[in-house]
Amino acid sequence: RAKERGAGHVEVYAAHMHDTVVSRLELQIRLRQALAAGEFFLEYQPIVDLDSSQVTAVEALVRWNRDGEVVGPDDFIGAAEESGLIVPLGEWILREACQKVAVWRVSDWDIGLSVNLSVKQVLSDRFVSTVETVLADSGLPAEVLTLEVDEEVLLDDVGEAVLRLGELRALGVMLAIDDYGMGYASLAHLRELSVDAIKIDPLFTADLGRDDTVTLLTHTIIQLGRDLGVQVVAEGIERSEQLEQLRTMGCDRGQGFLVARPMPASGMESLVGGESGVNL
Ligand code: C2E
Ligand code: MG
Ligand code: MG
Ligand code: MG
Repeated sequence: RAKERGAGHVEVYAAHMHDTVVSRLELQIRLRQALAAGEFFLEYQPIVDLDSSQVTAVEALVRWNRDGEVVGPDDFIGAAEESGLIVPLGEWILREACQKVAVWRVSDWDIGLSVNLSVKQVLSDRFVSTVETVLADSGLPAEVLTLEVDEEVLLDDVGEAVLRLGELRALGVMLAIDDYGMGYASLAHLRELSVDAIKIDPLFTADLGRDDTVTLLTHTIIQLGRDLGVQVVAEGIERSEQLEQLRTMGCDRGQGFLVARPMPASGMESLVGGESGVNL
């Protein structure tokens, strides 16, 4: 478009591009320093069994303490992926979360852990052995760990990614497809991968009971999960009507602000030894 408007506009456009590239590079450098300086931390969001309201697992979610301001993953995971920092950062996240949950489990709390992975990480060298080492070091049993991957993992470089996920599963860890529902991960793929869980996209949960197509699709996904023996987790539960509807549809697990917000480890620790259930 700049071309049509003449030379002056081309310059403005180029300068803008330059700014974007520079600030992106600056962010990448800052992230690398942040990892070295220990500025990342994890929050944990409970996942509950919808029948019993018991907390069955927690999902680890990374945050960055940038000069006292908390920055969420949507603002830096992309840059970390581009620079390759996601590999050491992802390893730190996995190690930190596994160690924490292993300690909670020693306090007699039978809780599982979910950790998000980027495709870049899955495809990186030695990723499978990293997971194996972290499990051995933390003493966390493999079957307690669920690794969450986005549907895009199945689009990216299908053969390679599927191979890696198969190796991970062979370690005994569980696999979950995150934000399921946008239509990429076909039934065949789920079979091929033998995933253990699918997490329904929060966009579906948001429109549950308000949009007939979404409600029908959600019901279909839950049914599909049942037929395949795959656990179904609904994400983004904010209102009690959504919770009731999901229960009626036979959804296994749920997660969302109505249940509990993501919280620092200390918040989770106040649940340890308690009822480890939530009032729903
Ligand atoms: P996700 O894996 O789908 O995680 C769920 C996101 O939804 C989290 O956002 C969580 O705080 C938010 N959430 C939970 N319940 C509700 C709700 O009821 N309503 C609404 N509106 N939101 C809710 P967060 O922590 O900002 O993370 C965003 C995404 O960043 C994650 O989506 C995940 O894809 C990615 N991410 C987070 N931590 C990591 C990590 O350690 N590694 C990698 N590779 N990606 C991560
Ligand atoms: Mg997730
Ligand atoms: Mg995700
Ligand atoms: Mg999700």
